[in-house]
Amino acid sequence: MTRLLIVGPQGSGKGTQGVRIAETFGIPAVSTGDVFRGAVAAGTPLGEQVKAIIEAGDLVPDELTSAVVRERLSQPDAASGFLLDGYPRNVAQVMHLDEFLEGRGEAIDSVIELEVPRDESIARLSRRAAEQGRSDDTEEGIANRLAIYERETAPILDIYRARDVVERIDGVGSLDEITGRIVAALEARGLGRGAAA
Ligand code: ADP
Repeated sequence: MTRLLIVGPQGSGKGTQGVRIAETFGIPAVSTGDVFRGAVAAGTPLGEQVKAIIEAGDLVPDELTSAVVRERLSQPDAASGFLLDGYPRNVAQVMHLDEFLEGRGEAIDSVIELEVPRDESIARLSRRAAEQGRSDDTEEGIANRLAIYERETAPILDIYRARDVVERIDGVGSLDEITGRIVAALEARGLGRGAAA
C-alpha cells in the first residue's frame, strides 16, 4: 500500500513525474486536471459544469472536486494505493481527503514536493502552450493558476510537514534524474518497490 501526493507549481513537471512514480510503484496516478479535461472533451455533465472554470484557471468548487476524487479512489485499482496529482489543492480539500481516508483507516504515506524556481516553471509553461495549445495555458490563465498556487496550495504543505510526510525534491534536471531522486527519497522511507504491503 503506497498512498502518495505530488505537489508543485504549474510547470514543475508533477504530471510527468507523477505518472512515472505511479508506474514504478504499481499504483494508479490520478490527476484531477486530467479527469476534468477528459470530462470536458467527452462533453459529460461534469464537463459542462467545469469547462468555463478550467479555462479561466479558477478552481472547481471543493465539494465537486472532492466527490470526483472519492469516486475515483473507490475503484478497485486504487485499493492497493494511489498517487494524487493536483489534489488536494487547498486546506478545505485536505480536510475532505483526511475525512475520506480516515473512514477507511488509511492515511497519506508521503507528499512529494517538487521544487522549481518561478522563472523555470514559467518558461516550461510557455513552451507547453506553444506545443500543446492547452486552453488554460494563456498568459492570464497561467498567471491566475500560479497566484492560486502560492495563495492556496503552498499552505497545504505546512499541514503535511507537521505530519512529517513531506519529501522536498529538486525539480531541476533531466526527467530521469528527477524520477531517481523521488524514488530514492520514497525508498528511504521504506515505501515502494521492495516494501511489504
Ligand atoms: P495545472 O497544474 O497546470 O494548473 P491541472 O491539470 O492540475 O493543471 O489543473 C487544471 C485545472 O483543473 C485547474 O486550473 C482547475 O481549474 C482544475 N482543477 C484541477 N485540480 C483541481 C482541484 N483539486 N480543485 C479545484 N480545481 C481543480
